[in-house]
Amino acid sequence: MRDIPGTWRRVAAGAGLIGPDGSAAPTIFAEMSDLAARTGAVNLGQGFPDEDGPAEVLEAARAAIAKGVNQYPPGRGIPSLRTAISEHQQRFYSLTVDPDCDVVVTAGATEAIAASLLALIDGPDDEVVVFEPYYDSYAACVALAGARLVAVPLRWPDFQPDLDALRAAVTDRTRVILVNDPHNPTGAVFSSEVRAEVVRLAERHDAVIVEDEVYEHLVFDEPHVPLATVPGAWERTLSISSAGKTFSVTGWKIGWVSGPAALVDAVLAVKQFLTYANGAPFQPAVATGLALPDAFFASIAASLRHKRDVLGAGLQSAGFAVSHPQGSYFTVVDAAALGATDAADFCRTLPERAGVVAIPLTAFVTPAHKSEYATLVRFAACKRIEVIDEAARRLQSLR
Ligand code: PMP
Ligand code: GLN
Repeated sequence: MRDIPGTWRRVAAGAGLIGPDGSAAPTIFAEMSDLAARTGAVNLGQGFPDEDGPAEVLEAARAAIAKGVNQYPPGRGIPSLRTAISEHQQRFYSLTVDPDCDVVVTAGATEAIAASLLALIDGPDDEVVVFEPYYDSYAACVALAGARLVAVPLRWPDFQPDLDALRAAVTDRTRVILVNDPHNPTGAVFSSEVRAEVVRLAERHDAVIVEDEVYEHLVFDEPHVPLATVPGAWERTLSISSAGKTFSVTGWKIGWVSGPAALVDAVLAVKQFLTYANGAPFQPAVATGLALPDAFFASIAASLRHKRDVLGAGLQSAGFAVSHPQGSYFTVVDAAALGATDAADFCRTLPERAGVVAIPLTAFVTPAHKSEYATLVRFAACKRIEVIDEAARRLQSLR
């Protein structure tokens, strides 16, 4: 493999996944889920729920398959799903989105991110500003698109960016400011000052904002505020979300992008040659989900908030210093007090020491910055409460 020329090397290197022998390693999520399966450890690594989502959503997918909704859907997505996405944006954010031209359905948020970056990047001098640590596909996709990644650090324990560092990162070379809020892996929700500054900087330097909002309904304090709602932002913002987290169907891979028609058309121009179309029977099911009453959306946030609290208490009593996530599936701890000096080594030995799998934060940063995150570890709270209790019980053995 290491002798094969091609873009794969740049992509794997972008994600920090070139092994010592020059071959590409699997992502940390795959490695850690595999480790959990092999050792029987409780898997609080990869962020996926261990319970099914709403019965009516699952039933709608079964019904669609039974009715023969099994061939290519329209590349832009079926009309009823695009309408449901438009109504969702209006209901929760008062954003007016034309279902015919301001939306495209994608193969998960992952394809939406890839297609957006490929669509917007024009050459090797273009820069993409991201907050670091960042979701792992960001650096890989920036590399795939042939651009340069410019990282603005988020620091323990509140993980809000320094506004001066943000101002210094955005220049006329910035093509895209890629924001993830609520944030994976830190659980941060960005302040209104950060949102305002992102939009101001994008306007000043004529950059496009791409916001990954897959955890939009998993917030614990205030309702989510999309960047697209900040005055001046809409015409330069692509908003990305996904059914995976909201409806606990991460394997369905139904995502979407919304924004002004010209930007969405650019994304569609690329998407149609990545997957052309995707997920025919899941699309009407996600439309059903997006139309569920407000009580459903409130209940998933309340349930995850409770799980965050139980997980946080367990981690604290095991001896970790624990951050206070305001959203997302995740809680970050500092494992220094438990002797960690290398988060990846700590996570690789955690199944043996305590029967639990977690993810090192160093998996979400560029190799040159790993030392700044060397003792930080991410645990997922999106599991049944008895699973979190069991993990917490096992972790007490670390003391
Ligand atoms: N962005 C973030 C921040 C995520 O955590 C995930 C989770 N997998 C994704 C994108 C990908 O979403 P999807 O499964 O819809 O592709
Ligand atoms: N988003 C999930 C996480 O951060 C899963 C990622 C993946 O498997 N690619 O854990």
